[in-house]
Amino acid sequence: MEDLVKTIPLGYIDPLRVVCYRSKGSRSKRGIARCYSLLKIWQQALGLPSYYIIEVISERYDRMSQEDKVKVMIHELLHIPKTFGGGLRPHAGYVTRRAIDQLYLRYLSNKR
Ligand SMILES: [Zn+2]
Repeated sequence: MEDLVKTIPLGYIDPLRVVCYRSKGSRSKRGIARCYSLLKIWQQALGLPSYYIIEVISERYDRMSQEDKVKVMIHELLHIPKTFGGGLRPHAGYVTRRAIDQLYLRYLSNKR
């Protein structure tokens, strides 16, 4: 995740405030990964800045190819808004196959 944020780069994301979490023992119907935010009300009540969690479901994520893992991670990072404020962006208009592929190609070319 940190590598992606720095290489693409996604300057509005603070990798120190994105926690990656691998879950095991998934129940059915859950996807490969999910992005959570610390809602504004929690930030204010606890006196904390915004944080995000990217959870991957071990049983599904771990067996994916490296390319697919990177794309899943880009997908989840795209849910984080430019404000990094504690909200989440919807799929429509933001987290699209096209946007993911574009950032993936940029990551590969900047990595070289
Ligand atoms: Zn999504």
